[in-house]
Amino acid sequence: MESIHEKALRLIGAGAVTIRFQGDHVIDADVHGDHDTYPVVIEIGDRERCMCPASGDCSHLLAVLAVALQRNTGLPPAVTLGKVGV
Ligand SMILES: [Zn+2]
Repeated sequence: MESIHEKALRLIGAGAVTIRFQGDHVIDADVHGDHDTYPVVIEIGDRERCMCPASGDCSHLLAVLAVALQRNTGLPPAVTLGKVGV
C-alpha cells in the first residue's frame, strides 16, 4: 500500500500538480488525481482544503505543498515531503 507521501511524490513526478496562484498567504492549485481532478486551496498558517473524498491530510495537499516549497526554496519534493508533518 502506497503511503500518502509516496503517492504525493508519484503525482508530482507525473506532472499532476498545476499551481494556478501562489501568493504569500494562499496557494490555489489543481491536482489530477487517480480518479478525478481536485481543486486544492491552502491558506498558509490557517487551513488547507482539498476537494477529494479523503478526510484530513491527503496526498493532493502534500503534493501541492511540496511543489510550492520547491518554488520557494529550490528543495526537491523528496526532501520537503520528509519535512511536511502529517
Ligand atoms: Zn485530496
